[in-house]
Amino acid sequence: MSKLKYLDLRKQVIATCLKMNEEGINQGTSGNVSVRTDEGFLITASGIPYHKMKPEHVVEMDFDGGYYGSYLPSTEWRMHMDILKHRPEANAVVHTHSIYATALACLRKDIPPFHYMIGIGGGTDIRCSDYAEYGTQALSDVMLKAMEGRSACLLGNHGQIAFGYNLENALWRAGEVEAISHQYWASLQAGKPVILNDAQMTTVLARFKTYGKQPEDLGTGDALSVIGPERRDEPKKTKKKHKK
Ligand SMILES: [Zn+2]
Repeated sequence: MSKLKYLDLRKQVIATCLKMNEEGINQGTSGNVSVRTDEGFLITASGIPYHKMKPEHVVEMDFDGGYYGSYLPSTEWRMHMDILKHRPEANAVVHTHSIYATALACLRKDIPPFHYMIGIGGGTDIRCSDYAEYGTQALSDVMLKAMEGRSACLLGNHGQIAFGYNLENALWRAGEVEAISHQYWASLQAGKPVILNDAQMTTVLARFKTYGKQPEDLGTGDALSVIGPERRDEPKKTKKKHKK
């Protein structure tokens, strides 16, 4: 048997799916994961439980809707393809029907800035798209609209979708969308959450650009996400982190 193309990347897709299960943000086989390749992308096959998924069940596709191999891609391949096609900053996509994000999506609620972590979606809210039938171009179109200027959205009467600069980042974002959906849900049960204003969110969003980054990873003009601490020891002579 010839060696599978992108074997390592296929394994990473499966590992991401298994982590999605571990985190409890996937329901059955409804979630799906994709990652960009040199020519197109890899996506989970349709209907195969993650614990049974082997590298050959990860389907290679191109950006014209073509696929390779004997397994059909996930029914939601269009949404994955359209994000990777239209959003060059996206390298991986995670779609799930996680409970609280889906509950809000069924209520067609946008999530407002009731908590500063709303910034993980790239803006001051996480929008909910209109409803369109699963697997259709119509769904992909309403999703792209809700995703404008954002890296995640809720899908009306369906679930949520998030992208990232790699698989780990996309999975992290989908997990955060579920967490903030749960928190918004809980806040709504107890009363009317106080909404943060634009000024409060502007500074948060500036700092979020470097969220999780260390000083050596910052670009010029980037605001450091961590405020305040002063380094007391002398940094070691600058040894480049990256190999030449
Ligand atoms: Zn779905």
